[in-house]
Amino acid sequence: MDFSLSPEIDALRLKVRAFVNENILPLEADRSNYDAHENIRGEVLGPLREMAKRQGLWAPQMPKARGGLGLPMVGWAAFYEEANRSIFGPLSFNCCAPDDGNMSVLNKVLKTEAQKDQWLQPIIDGKIRSSFVMTEPHPGSGSDPGGMMLTRAEKRGAKYVVHGRKWFISGADGATHFILMARTSDDPRRGLSAFLYHKDQPGWRILRRIDTMGPEEYGGTCELEFDGLEIPEENLLMEEGDGLRITQMRLGPARLTHCMRWLGLSKRCLEIAHQYVRERNAFGSTLGSRESVQIMLGEVAAEIQKGRLLTMHAAWKLDSGDKAQKEVSMAKIHVADTLNRAADVGVQLCGAKGYSKDTVLEWIYRYARCAKLVDGASEVHKMVLARSLAKEGNDFWRWG
Ligand SMILES: Cc1cc2nc3c(=O)[nH]c(=O)nc-3n(C[C@H](O)[C@H](O)[C@H](O)COP(=O)(O)OP(=O)(O)OC[C@H]3O[C@@H](n4cnc5c(N)ncnc54)[C@H](O)[C@@H]3O)c2cc1C
Repeated sequence: MDFSLSPEIDALRLKVRAFVNENILPLEADRSNYDAHENIRGEVLGPLREMAKRQGLWAPQMPKARGGLGLPMVGWAAFYEEANRSIFGPLSFNCCAPDDGNMSVLNKVLKTEAQKDQWLQPIIDGKIRSSFVMTEPHPGSGSDPGGMMLTRAEKRGAKYVVHGRKWFISGADGATHFILMARTSDDPRRGLSAFLYHKDQPGWRILRRIDTMGPEEYGGTCELEFDGLEIPEENLLMEEGDGLRITQMRLGPARLTHCMRWLGLSKRCLEIAHQYVRERNAFGSTLGSRESVQIMLGEVAAEIQKGRLLTMHAAWKLDSGDKAQKEVSMAKIHVADTLNRAADVGVQLCGAKGYSKDTVLEWIYRYARCAKLVDGASEVHKMVLARSLAKEGNDFWRWG
């Protein structure tokens, strides 16, 4: 087994690291660069994105022919981890959620280059943002979209007409292109279909931008209402009934890119804590010289490295054409916990300063809580693993 990165990917990783150090961390440290939703202000982000593009650090997950870096997924992992050492990083390089997952799935399922030019290219270019519209408020679908989705798309001639309600749709406020999941039949396996629509189409609206405990993704998390949205049949993705398949195609890699980014945030927590305990004195010695403090740091470091191995393994399997369902689930469960642990230890070791807004620890601490919920709650991923274990028996543990 060879755990090293290729020289090209490692050089790129170091370039991202240098860019974050020189251009992003100084902006992140100045609160005047934050908007009302605790994200980077648009006027600050624009020039940063232009600089990233000029330096060849743009859309690592997209093909070169469309302006990206054309990296394999193992390369995404190295890139994203460095990018998300700053909370502003993924947006700056156009590899943030939900756009990165949306770009990846559109690149796979759109049939013609003309469709890609229309629906995908503006997102790659950073001219517009996108949203993935699936989750519904009670009694609609959450953890179980296949079984519980209530939003319906009814076929009328050459178009579909959509009625229903969605919520927690990241980035919807200000997004232009939407991937929408809706029920087209009551078939338990092929009941859902996926559609594309543009923000200017009538028949839908944003009811509210939901207030959450965390700092928000760009465009917030929104509740949407569909009241007769008409979608031409050419904007059905793949075939009618392929909705769950498309969801899996999107969420497998998208869950893993969350892990890649969260590992960067976890490392940043450790970095801030480490710097503090090295300099801070109490009871006659630095905090960093206390064994109990070293144990806290060492434990988190080990958890991060376990998360990196799980994430890289899943990335490697996806690169080799495997769906890597259980590997992605394991990474998602573990890295979500690790991010929460790293943020908690970071706050704890930095004392009152950790609780303040003088560092990004408290931002990460609040954000981290959603990691165990989004893109499949941890319990659901554990259920998936238990099912695989029951089905595969000893084969569950196979290598390769
Ligand atoms: C910040 C944020 C951003 C989001 N962005 C998007 C987005 O862009 N697009 C989108 O469509 N959705 C989005 N979501 C929704 C997210 O994907 C759902 O919250 C998630 O799928 C869980 O669904 P739910 O909230 O309805 O929880 P429910 O299905 O109501 O489940 C509640 C809890 O029950 C437990 N549970 C569920 N199933 C099981 C089980 N089988 N066994 C044991 N316990 C179980 C879990 O602990 C779970 O947290 C976002 C959510 C958040 C918080």
